Amino acid sequence: MADTVKPFWKAKSMQEMDKQEWESLCDGCARCCLEKLECEDTGDVYFTHLVCRYLDQEKCSCTDYQNRTVLVPHCVQLTPENVLEYKWLPNTCGYRLIAEGKDLPDWHPLITGTHDTVLEAGIAVTGKVISEENVPFDEWEEHIITWASCD
Ligand code: SF4
Ligand code: SF4
Repeated sequence: MADTVKPFWKAKSMQEMDKQEWESLCDGCARCCLEKLECEDTGDVYFTHLVCRYLDQEKCSCTDYQNRTVLVPHCVQLTPENVLEYKWLPNTCGYRLIAEGKDLPDWHPLITGTHDTVLEAGIAVTGKVISEENVPFDEWEEHIITWASCD
């Protein structure tokens, strides 16, 4: 029986991945750009359908990627070492799944070869969000959603 070659995300640790492999774990959903609310009492995190003002909602990409962590202090740079620290990462996030020892879902671009499947599977935020700059903070609670979650 011929040896089967494991894909890199199964064969390598996150620390062993090169830059291109690391970047390709991102499915481009932009769920991490959704604004979140944290319950002071329980620490539970709730996603809203309000999205960062710097997101290009059609492309699900940041309009100022180079300066994002300066423009938005809570926008983080994920690394193999810190992924698991961010408990608020959505439960569909490729980085989170691999860091937790899970496999990638069947709609992930690394499986299908196209980003279209992220949209088709309803994982991308395109068409489901509004910019946070249009909603005052004291109304954010009214915009909590269940289609994205970190649980
Ligand atoms: S939630 Fe994870 S997979 Fe989705 S865009 Fe953010 S980093 Fe990429
Ligand atoms: S600055 Fe860019 S990457 Fe960061 S949350 Fe906003 S849109 Fe997303």
